[in-house]
Amino acid sequence: MRSSTLTDLGEFEIIRQFAQGEPRQSSNLVRGIGDDASVLRFGNKTLLITTDMLQQGVHFDRHWMPWDHLGEKVLEVNLSDIAAMGGKPLYYWLGLGLPAGLPKTALDQLRRGLKRAARRAKVRCAGGDTTRSPRGVIISVTVLGEASRHIFYRDRAHVGDRIYVTGKVGEAALGLELLKRGLAKQPAVRRYCLRQTRPRARLDFARRLAQSGCAHAMIDISDGLAADLQHILDASQVGAKVDLDAFKASPSFRRACAKLKKNPQSLIWGGGDDYELLLTIPQRHIRRLQSIGRATATPLTPLGQITRSKGLGCYDAQGRRVILKKTGYNHFS
Ligand code: ADP
Ligand code: MG
Repeated sequence: MRSSTLTDLGEFEIIRQFAQGEPRQSSNLVRGIGDDASVLRFGNKTLLITTDMLQQGVHFDRHWMPWDHLGEKVLEVNLSDIAAMGGKPLYYWLGLGLPAGLPKTALDQLRRGLKRAARRAKVRCAGGDTTRSPRGVIISVTVLGEASRHIFYRDRAHVGDRIYVTGKVGEAALGLELLKRGLAKQPAVRRYCLRQTRPRARLDFARRLAQSGCAHAMIDISDGLAADLQHILDASQVGAKVDLDAFKASPSFRRACAKLKKNPQSLIWGGGDDYELLLTIPQRHIRRLQSIGRATATPLTPLGQITRSKGLGCYDAQGRRVILKKTGYNHFS
């Protein structure tokens, strides 16, 4: 009989096993495992900590990922988790696993990209760790941030809340397909490739939203729109009814999808890596949300509503129920 491997477990079961027995809350720990960042309180200061790594061959391929974009991205994906909690990033720690044969110029570019993103977000490096890697580059970043008066958790969605997403979802997944096929140089699709290699965390929007205190639950979209919405639903023990056609893909997005024989709806709902924000908000605060969206140049799309009955109910523009096939990314399956 074949011995069982991690493919049988899947990413989320592995996390569950390590999380077992750990406190969701203890003296200084306001929120442990289970959200985009951990929340710690010391006196009257509330801090956020998050960590994420990018690995060559898993998250990126050196044939299509410029080293400076990689440096920016590894910080931005962490900043995005701080944004999802409504916080302000302060310091970061950098873990590097580097192959001995990596050209010095690659490291220079990586460092330049990382520092560029750090300057933009006004975060400083406060430490890290450096080792040799037997195969490929591994970069792990940990970010420490300060919480706002209001913190967004995944488990705060209320029945009746409206569901909104920022920006354009599915573009990073489209970009990845284009990059893998070596089509990144074509001017008509270049911006999709940049969405994959150079995402930007929605820090300003999130912080203003946290200062206004008008939203309930929030998460950033790394696994995919449907999968990340499911994380909110699971944590909040609620369901949702969404319109699969609510998000209108542009003609250029549709053209690129047609060329690659990809279904636009699968990329929008199943593709990951957008680092946009998905949030739930009571109807009475929608005008406030829209004004924060305008003030920070953040497009917002309403997707549907939180329901008491569990599960994710997806409907098309004609109100017919649709079953989503693949939803989201799992590292081991
Ligand atoms: P995100 O996509 O926002 O970075 P993840 O899906 O990576 O979140 O992780 C979900 C939750 O599980 C987070 O709260 C994270 O801190 C926690 N987590 C992930 N891997 C581990 C691990 N190996 N040990 C403990 N907690 C983990
Ligand atoms: Mg996240």
